[in-house]
Amino acid sequence: MISVIISKDNIANEIIEIVDKNDINHLKNAFRVKVGETIRAVDGEFEYICEILSVEKKIIEAKILEKNEDRFSSPVYIEAAIGILKNDKMDLTIQKLTEIGVSKITPLLTKRGVAKLTEKKDKWDLIVKEATKQCQAVKLVEIGEPQKLSNINFKDYDLALVPYECEEENSLKNILKKIENKPKRVLYIIGPEGGFEKEEIEFLKENGVTPVSLGKRILRAETASIIVGGILVNEF
Ligand code: SAH
Repeated sequence: MISVIISKDNIANEIIEIVDKNDINHLKNAFRVKVGETIRAVDGEFEYICEILSVEKKIIEAKILEKNEDRFSSPVYIEAAIGILKNDKMDLTIQKLTEIGVSKITPLLTKRGVAKLTEKKDKWDLIVKEATKQCQAVKLVEIGEPQKLSNINFKDYDLALVPYECEEENSLKNILKKIENKPKRVLYIIGPEGGFEKEEIEFLKENGVTPVSLGKRILRAETASIIVGGILVNEF
């Protein structure tokens, strides 16, 4: 079913109003929606199954037939903090983590990070929107402000992991096996293309973050980000 993302302001008296130019353009020209057809709208909290009432130049109206609770989000809050990757690598990571269903992605400013930060937030938000529609989720992934490691409030999480290619003792698998109580808020931290410096790992350890290995192969940062997101969403 065709999905659109709306804001709560666009809902009144069981009617939703689609007013976003791009959405209207998409619905009219790409999908050629007609009066009487059914579409799906999400507002970040609920899913609405709606019937199109009118299709006009600047507004499409639809009647809500069904309002559903969010059955698509993980019950556990999972945040991915990722060293900002170059160009399309970060875009790909954001798209895939949206599909997988993490709650938040925080771009990280790290010592070896080389990517430039110029007006990317808007682009990343758009990637989240498109991926949310595609995978039929209800909640939008939040893209946080770029942060330094020192600005993270580690006390906010009851499980914090940093996949680290030089870790020899703990593997992600073993650490997850040892967990007895399901955590409520999980943070995982992935380095940029060049990885983390030793000092950064020491700093994270001092703050209660556990380094874990993902195996003997050195994965690209985007690969590590995506597989760890998938493993954690499925685990919890
Ligand atoms: N410093 C490395 C590459 C870092 S890979 C080098 O250039 O040789 C980028 C990020 O992916 C790392 O910071 C880490 O978070 C993650 N990563 C990649 N392979 C990993 C592995 N085998 N185990 C744990 N984490 C890994």
